[in-house]
Amino acid sequence: MAPHFPSIQSFFQTKPSPNSKDQPSSSAAIAGDGFSAAEVNAVLHLSTDSSWTPTQDYEERDIGALDSGPKCVTFMGRIVNFYDQATPSKKPRAARGCIKLILADDTGALTVRLWYANMEYKFRLGHLISVWTPHISHGETGALAPSSAPLFTSIFPERDRSCHLMIHQNSDEGVQYKRPLGYKEGQPLPGLMTLKNFIDGGYDVADGRILVCVRSIGAKKKLTNKKGTITELANIGVFDDTAEASLTLWGSGTASAASWQPSHTVLLITNPGWKIDRKSWISLNANTHVDVDPYFSDAVWLRSFARRLTKREHVNPRFPEGVFDVEAAEASEVRILYTLADIDEFARAAPKEKFMGYLSLIIMELNIVTLHRRNMLMCIECCGVPLYANATTAKCKQCETVLPLRINPRLLGTLVDETGSLATGSLLFHPLAWEQLLGRTATELVSASPDVLKYLEQRLLFLRITFGFGWARAEEGEEEGSGKEKEKRKEGGGKRKREEGGDAEGAVGRLCVWGIKM
Ligand SMILES: [Zn+2]
Repeated sequence: MAPHFPSIQSFFQTKPSPNSKDQPSSSAAIAGDGFSAAEVNAVLHLSTDSSWTPTQDYEERDIGALDSGPKCVTFMGRIVNFYDQATPSKKPRAARGCIKLILADDTGALTVRLWYANMEYKFRLGHLISVWTPHISHGETGALAPSSAPLFTSIFPERDRSCHLMIHQNSDEGVQYKRPLGYKEGQPLPGLMTLKNFIDGGYDVADGRILVCVRSIGAKKKLTNKKGTITELANIGVFDDTAEASLTLWGSGTASAASWQPSHTVLLITNPGWKIDRKSWISLNANTHVDVDPYFSDAVWLRSFARRLTKREHVNPRFPEGVFDVEAAEASEVRILYTLADIDEFARAAPKEKFMGYLSLIIMELNIVTLHRRNMLMCIECCGVPLYANATTAKCKQCETVLPLRINPRLLGTLVDETGSLATGSLLFHPLAWEQLLGRTATELVSASPDVLKYLEQRLLFLRITFGFGWARAEEGEEEGSGKEKEKRKEGGGKRKREEGGDAEGAVGRLCVWGIKM
């Protein structure tokens, strides 16, 4: 199912605080024992030692340039996958576990097996990491490192002073290593498919990739398995312009979602794990790579698409005055009949051009009776709240102003011609055009009896009507495209179409109807 509506979280965004949750609890500190909470925490919860100084020379390398063998090297990358493997042991000096991190830069990916004893690492997907190590190995069997990042290094910074790992939290400008692996400027990213194509069988493609935007972030849940171990999970709602799915994060990976923003954060998921039943479930397996907010044209486009979904539209915008010369159009000897496809083509070819003409459309659906029953025949917006009534005026509940209402544009359902369709309420009518279409004024409409309205609806349904229309590009910050523009893009299928620099649709206005010819 295509996402029709962004989640409520998109409208009420909390400022993510990257560090607040990382603070270890200070419950261990008892008042009056002579140690401050910070001092106790420093001992109980060791964090990465920032005072580490290399004892020898480490050569700086790109990940793609690393070879297996003993050599002191240092490299940087972003976390694209990680999971924590606890290895419980009674020996006091033994490691308590190992975190498998996959780091990627623009040139390659590598696995870091990070052993720990007392240190608490708080990793998130997308963290920028520096590693210093004296040895790189090749995981031939796949047991020590996944096939997507076969080179690996095992480090234990707490015990071994020759290796070190640093999380760049304050020094991360968010620009380094944001290009997806294998991306070439101006070329489509290899393996990238729409979410719908992935669900419809694209999951079989080796190294398939999906680009999704976060829609909602579910609460963390705890699951107890048969052995009694408790695991945490979080479900993240994700979508693109074709479908939606749920991304499940497990264990320590759930922390990654804390800094993600609904309708803003974009994830590029390479080799996702999947389960498709009634819903589509995406997860991270050993070979999955997740790029958080990657920097390339498709990601920029998807974010602007998500942003447009959250842009709230006025329930009933006013017919633009002074934009179209209606009198000249009516008196003109040249009257051009357009199809919906023509308009689409014209508007894309010359986005700044203003034009007027005629459309011949069939009314497929009318909502006169329904809206009358719901007391919603007329509407307007005041103080940001929509006001509905079966009356020509209504009082705003916020500021108590009495306002004149306009006919609800949703009265007219889907309209079609041979080339396309217009979604419910996407036309912008002049009051006179309404009068011509309905054969009565707004006052007469709201005072008509239910039987008359029912008759009116039946009389208009499936009629072919000529609409005199005008089209002009919307000003910045106004409404965007009619339903048809969206329909057209959905049909684009596997390859995403990017017209005119990617964001042309944001500037598409609405069709304004100035007259009706029955
Ligand atoms: Zn008001």
